[in-house]
This record gives sequence, C-alpha cells and structure tokens, in this order.
Amino acid sequence: MRYAEIGYNLEVDLTLGSIERVETDPRDTELYLGGLGTNAKILWDRVPSEVEPFSPDNLLIFSAGLLCGTPATGCNRTIVSTISPQTELMAFSMMGGFWAPELKYAGYDKVIFRGKSPDLVYLWIHNDTVEIRDASHLKGKGATETAELIREELKEPKAQVAAIGLAGENRVYFASIEQGRSSASRLGIGAVMGDKGIKAIAVRGTKDINVARPAEFMELCNEVLEYIKFRNENPIPGVMTILQGLGSPQEMKVHDEKWHTENFMWGNARVRRKEFWNEEVAKAWMETLETMRTRLISCYNCPMTCGATITPPGLPTFMMKCFSKLTYTMAAFSDLEFGLGIAQSATEYGVDGFSTPQVMAFALELYENGILTDDDFPGMPSDNEGRFYWLLDRIVRREGIGDALANGTYWAAKQIGKGAEEYAHNTIKKHEQLPLKLSMLNPIYFLMYATGEKINITQIEGQFPQAPFPTMEEREAFVKDWFQVPDEKFKQILLDWEPRGEKSMPYYPTVQMCCDIVDWQEKMHYIDDALGMCAGLSSFPLKPPYHIHNYPKFISSGAGIEMDEDKLTQAIKRYRTLVRAINIRRGMRRKDEKPPEDHWKKRFPELEKELLDTYYKFKGWNNEGIPTKESLYELGLDYVFEDFDKRGIYSDNGAAPSKETLAEQEKEV
Ligand code: SF4
Repeated sequence: MRYAEIGYNLEVDLTLGSIERVETDPRDTELYLGGLGTNAKILWDRVPSEVEPFSPDNLLIFSAGLLCGTPATGCNRTIVSTISPQTELMAFSMMGGFWAPELKYAGYDKVIFRGKSPDLVYLWIHNDTVEIRDASHLKGKGATETAELIREELKEPKAQVAAIGLAGENRVYFASIEQGRSSASRLGIGAVMGDKGIKAIAVRGTKDINVARPAEFMELCNEVLEYIKFRNENPIPGVMTILQGLGSPQEMKVHDEKWHTENFMWGNARVRRKEFWNEEVAKAWMETLETMRTRLISCYNCPMTCGATITPPGLPTFMMKCFSKLTYTMAAFSDLEFGLGIAQSATEYGVDGFSTPQVMAFALELYENGILTDDDFPGMPSDNEGRFYWLLDRIVRREGIGDALANGTYWAAKQIGKGAEEYAHNTIKKHEQLPLKLSMLNPIYFLMYATGEKINITQIEGQFPQAPFPTMEEREAFVKDWFQVPDEKFKQILLDWEPRGEKSMPYYPTVQMCCDIVDWQEKMHYIDDALGMCAGLSSFPLKPPYHIHNYPKFISSGAGIEMDEDKLTQAIKRYRTLVRAINIRRGMRRKDEKPPEDHWKKRFPELEKELLDTYYKFKGWNNEGIPTKESLYELGLDYVFEDFDKRGIYSDNGAAPSKETLAEQEKEV
C-alpha cells in the first residue's frame, strides 16, 4: 500500500488526445520525495536540453506535494514544473489554494501533459473519469471567469479549477496559472499551458488518502496547530511587522505598509520614497482596504486567513493573491485603490504580479526618455493610471508594442534596442526581481540572489533574521526558544552579529557562515516544495511550526518512508542538485549567477568572488557551478555525470569563458 501519495499519475498526450493512468515507482519517492523532487526527475529523464519551451516535447507537470491532502495543516501546494520561455531553464512555480488536495482525493499525484492540442481544451478529472473537453467557448475569458463557467457547465460547484487567462493563451512570458486565492506565477508557466492549448484543469475528488501511522501523524498535526496558536498570540518582538507572525499577513490582514512602501523601489525599480508613509496615507489606504476587503480567507486546511476577497467599485469580486497588493500601486506611483483595482484585471488576464508592473513602468520609462515614441503608443490615455490599464491590455493581447513587452524587460529591451537595455536593470537569469535597491552588500542575500534557481527571493529567504538585533538583550531573548535551528552554531552567529563594527556586514557573518545560513534557508524551501507545504508556515517566517526536526517525523508517519534528519538532508540535496543539473545541461553557468548590478550601491568584488567560490565548493559544484563527479556519485546521480560527460559539459570547467546559454544563442536580436 502507498501512504500519503497515491502512486498514480495521469499522463495526457494532447497531440493524440490520449489519457493514461500510470503507476509510479515508490523507489523514486524515497529518493526524491514528491512534488518538486519527482518533477525534477521526470524533466531530467524526459525533456532533454534540446527541447524548447514551446515544443510539443516540453512537459507541463502539475504535482501535488507528497503530504498534500493529509491532515497536515497548510499542506496544499501544487508545484508546476516545465521549461520556462523566459529563462529557458527549469521553472517550478507553485500555488496554494485548494487544487492539489483535490487532485489527491481524485486519485492522482501528478498530471503530466505532453504534446499540443490543435484546439483550446480543458481537462476534467472526476475521480476515475477523466476527459479532454472542448474549451473553444472559453477562449479569451478571464481566469476566474473560466473557473466559474466550468463549474456551472459541469454542475460541480466543488470542482477546483486551475485556469489561464488571455495572457497564457497568447504566450506572454510572464503569464500565470490562477487557482482559488492563489497563483503559480513565476517563469511563464501560464504561457506553456496556453501553448499546449489547455485553458484549464478542473478536478473533483472524493476518495480517501492513506496515512501510514495515523495516531502518530495526528499528534504531530496537533502539535503544529498548538504552536501556530502560540505564535499568533506571541508575535516576535524587535522584527518588522510582517516577520512577527506566520503566513503572509502583510497581504490583507496587516495594514501597516510603512516598511514595503519606504524600502522597496517605486516605478521600474528606480526610486525609493523614504518618507512616504504618514498618517494621511495610512488613513486613506485603511479606508480603501476596509471598503474593498469583503472577507478574510485561507487556503485549504489552514487557520491563518492571510488572503482576502476584494470587491473594487464596479468590478467583480476576486481573491487577492500573494504579493500583488502593492506592486501595481508602486510601479505606477499611485494609491491603493488603483492597485487593488488593476489587480482584478491582472488576475483575470493571468499575469505575474512582480514582473507585470515592472514591465509596464519600464515601457513608460522608455517613452519618457525618447526610446519609445508616440508612434509606439497609439491611443494611449494621457492619465497615469489609464496608461497602466492600456498597457496591460496591449501586453496580454500582444498588440503593437505590447508584443515585445510581453516577453519581459530582458527580451523586450533587446528587441527594442536604442539603449533600452540600460533600463532593463532588475533581472536575474533574465527574469524581473523584487524592486529593491539597497546600500551595503548583504553577503547572505548575495548568495541567495546569485544561486537561487526558483528566481524568487521570497522563495529562498527565511529562518534567519534579515538584520542583526541592536542589543545583546534582544539577541539573547531571540535565541532562547529558537529550537528550529538545525545546529546550535546558528545561535552564536546571531548573538555575535552586530549592526556596526568588526562583526557587521559585509564581512560578518563570515563567508563560511553565510554558506551555512543560505544552505539552511534553501533546504527548507526545497522540503516545502516537495511536500507541498506553504512556505508561510515553514521556510519563510522566523521560528515556524514546521522545521528540520519535525519534518522527518511527518514523512515517516505520513508517507511510511522511514526518515531521519540525515536521510532527509540527503534527499533534498539529491533533487536540489538535479534541478541544477537540468539548468546546467540547458547552458546555465557561473556568469548567469549574479544579482542586478545596482542591487547594492556598495559592492565588494573580491568578497563576492570568494562567497561564490566557497558556496559552490560547499554544495559540491565546481568553479562554474557544475555539480562534480564526486558529489553526483555520492548522491546516486551517476546518470547525470554520464550525461554531462558525454556532452562535454566539464570542459567548461575552470577559467575558460562560459558559453552563451541556449536562450542567448537563439534569441539574440
Ligand atoms: S499560511 Fe496563508 S498562504 Fe499559507 S496556506 Fe495558510 S492561508 Fe494559505
């Protein structure tokens, strides 16, 4: 018997119109867990590096995490993996909401799409009945509108529907997949879904899931719930509001936006507005929020209520997804009312809330600087907010200048030329980043930005405080009940970390300490993405309820795979290395691993080199960031070494300049 996981995937060939229910190998679960881990194994095995994102041979995998659908609180993530049109590297976006548990209850762990449908279709999964259905009547419909129409058509109000909007249909490189109050947004996975001709996947399941040792598992779940209650009643003192609790409360519950509005950049990641937040703004924004926020809501099996339904005047109600609340407001130098209103359109169109506002502000910056002219914006309104709505519409339709902009700032700048590349200044690995520009190099964040492969800083940071506490008293208070640390040494690092002087940034934490911290942070996110856990209860906050000490127990009693911390660490290392191997095989090298040039004003090239050298070594990668033969053999990834060797990938080793990535070779304009 299989526990926690179902043991069956759905394989859908859209070219042939065939659907198969395929049994999976339990040994893969032991080695790679589920979710991201087994997705990476499938992509490695079945999508060689020659396959382009919009090729029928590219796969699009929707996976429930290993523990999704069990009673583990907050375990509801769907991990969507494919090859990204934006970076041409592996994409592994994930979404919360309700879809993944429903898929498990229908009797499947993953849905794997290959091929392309000649007509727009949707997939309907209802326990053992699975059909590809015509979606021509849904063409051009919004993502949430589509979900509603499908539920009505199927007469299944409880069906969970993941859908794309117009942006996905038109292969916008930052198109998202929308579901419930969540969204898988990064790296253009919605564009791949549109390219394959899939408008939506609706699922309804009423079966059970087996848990290996139910009593033990429930005890662990109850401990987590009790701890959540404790943390909600005892916010962490001395850290910014959004880090005091769990989940993503800054989205809709917490109203104090001083930190975001004054620390993040406005426009196309250009200007910091240090004294923006005042009583007047706070009052006006509070009124907007109270008027438009109709209900606080949660994802499946979670008590946190960190999302909300929003009803902007004259527009349909929508569920606000994470991290979109302020991004449009700040890109347009506008107010919260505008931001919440345009987020409704953006959700229906299905676009990423980080990239889209930056792309639109970038276009207007090019216009203001004469690189784009009136001829590029025929009929654009003259008012600021109107321009953003107009641009959003052009982008998702790929009309006029919107066609280039739909490829994101990196590719659009290359296509537009005339110096536009200077303005595409906030990308890593060709994808827009958080609009942050800071002063002093932060060595921990340098490593995260440079080496992260999810291309989203919020999906790698967490666990360790972002800044030192000013007084020893505060530090001692923090470390006192910090049982989540994987090693006691982290407490000492924090105790010694000073805001100024010898033990301050950028030289403290030391290079080795930075490697340890980043590795811990990354490890937690990779566990979440395999188990399907919300980062808001595990990898992202300080002192979370899920951690390296209780996760092995959840896996053992839930999935029946005997696990301890060492075995879990080894499994994470294995699939984390596999993700890197996929990207290395697609051309990613050291030269791609750098934060935007102007991310920090004060840079330290020698220290940065040492950080990267040491971290690569620490991870078992060579100087080009390529996993070494020894580390691959140690992880049982011999097949990766053999493939690398055959392709001559190790000849990139050392000081030789690295080759252009495939994307650069083929897309240079
Ligand atoms: S903490 Fe928030 S985002 Fe995470 S599962 Fe719960 S409601 Fe969803």
